Formats: sequence, structure tokens, C-alpha cells
Amino acid sequence: MMKRVTAFRCSFCGKVLLTERGCAAHEEKFCSKSPNNLAACYSCKWYQYTDKFTTITREGMHPMTGHEYQYQKDIQINICLKYNNAKMFNSFHASEELVEDAENNGFRIMPTIQEGCLDYQKKEE
Ligand SMILES: [Zn+2]
Repeated sequence: MMKRVTAFRCSFCGKVLLTERGCAAHEEKFCSKSPNNLAACYSCKWYQYTDKFTTITREGMHPMTGHEYQYQKDIQINICLKYNNAKMFNSFHASEELVEDAENNGFRIMPTIQEGCLDYQKKEE
């Protein structure tokens, strides 16, 4: 038998979820279109892509041996021209540890649209 269900639609990306709580969590933390998660930098005129990468050293548990080990990770360098060419890092979908490692390696965490940025200026298309 068919059954009608109530569902909730994300107001940013249109995704449909079955529970209100799930939908709220999605909008808050997981939706890539939500101003909570969308970095302000991408539409800002001070933001600049480069094709350069920097290598950071990370520590972690090796998946095969279960021992601590160090490994290298390449992170693309995109910069903020306004903020002394700071290397900007998008923390959305990055683990807390990776965000911390990026910060320790001189990256600045991109502000979200929700947080805003004092230097933000909309890029001319
Ligand atoms: Zn969404």
C-alpha cells in the first residue's frame, strides 16, 4: 500500500529529507549551498586561484599497520590579495585535525558567508 509521508526541503539546495531534524542539520552543517558552509572567498574580488601546491606534514594512524606515522599532503594554494596574500583554506568537509594542521602550516580558514569578512568585496563578473 502506498503511504503519504511528510518531508522537508532544504531551503538552499532543494534536497528533500524525511525528518525536520535531519533537514535542519543538513542546512546547518552539511549543505554546500548553505551560507553556513559556503566560503565567502569564492565570490570575492580579493580571492585568487593559483595552480601552486604546498606540502604539509601530517601525523596519523597508518591504516595498514595501525601505528602512528607521518605523511605528506598537498594543499592547493589560493590566496587573499587583500590579506597579505594569505593562503586560504576551505574548512568545509575537512576534518578538525586537517583544519588544525592547515592553520599550523600558515593557512587561514576561509570565512563563511554567514560569518562574513570585513574585506569582502563582490567580484565583478
Ligand atoms: Zn541543502
